[in-house]
Amino acid sequence: MNTLSKRLIRSAGLAVATFILGTWTVPAAAAKKVNVVATLPDFGAIAKEVGGDKVNVTSIAKGSEDPHFVDARPSFIRVLNQADVLLEGGAELEIGWLPPLIEGARNRRIIGDAPGRVKFSPAIRMLDVPAGPVDRSMGDVHPAGNPHFWLDPANGKIIASTIAATLVQVDAANAAIYQANLQRFSQRLDAKIKEWTQAMEPWRGTHVITYHKTYDYFLHRFGLELVATIEPKPGIEPSPTHISALIPQAREKGVKLIFIEPNRNRRTPEYLAERIGAKVLVLPGMVGGNEKVTDYISLFDYYVRQLKDALGKSP
Ligand SMILES: [Zn+2]
Repeated sequence: MNTLSKRLIRSAGLAVATFILGTWTVPAAAAKKVNVVATLPDFGAIAKEVGGDKVNVTSIAKGSEDPHFVDARPSFIRVLNQADVLLEGGAELEIGWLPPLIEGARNRRIIGDAPGRVKFSPAIRMLDVPAGPVDRSMGDVHPAGNPHFWLDPANGKIIASTIAATLVQVDAANAAIYQANLQRFSQRLDAKIKEWTQAMEPWRGTHVITYHKTYDYFLHRFGLELVATIEPKPGIEPSPTHISALIPQAREKGVKLIFIEPNRNRRTPEYLAERIGAKVLVLPGMVGGNEKVTDYISLFDYYVRQLKDALGKSP
């Protein structure tokens, strides 16, 4: 066979290949859903609202886990390998468990400054940002400020719009759908924030103690006051001396409630509650933390209901 024939055959082969790709991959791509992986179920829940039936959403942490110490099973490496988008809180929340999964996944769509790599913390007005450097050897798990920002429903709107902007970028064909879903979710959330604010109005100024600094954004939004935490520092378990020091402080401030997450040991909070005449409220720190908290809005519905039940109809 001469060179010209070889070249003709090769280009014909190329044409056939192009044709096959053209006819096969385009419909497949149109039907393919965007694979979204969320570090936390709250980000996943909001991604479902914004992405609707155009996305597959997988969340790594379970709602009952401590988001700082997630059991990051190696099976998530395969999930991350197939991800088009990774949603992450940032502010060092996932630093203890996410980096090895990302490294193992070797997926350039979610590495570095790829459009599929999303961190929410830079868009959020963070609480508890330290004025100076924090010594990590002290064990403080909030060295870059308080990372539990999804517990202010107003931040849920920022999370949703960040997700929508990302989906529009990685799946432009469905941009109008994402924008419409975002608008619908934001309006629903606005209406609920108004409702929750009204319901919480009688309890403004209520003094509470929490186990970890999980609920600060919620307290800040609805005007409740954090008197102290059972942990002396985020991530550090309390000593008996610390608990003894909390008792007079809590009595002086008239603390009526102690908030704890479902994964905490109840012994210390109950000991303290008994001595100061307070109630222990178990409030999931994330969506899925109990069977009643199935999506982002039901998380706050649950909080407001629990608070009303604990505090009574009027102050
Ligand atoms: Zn924390």
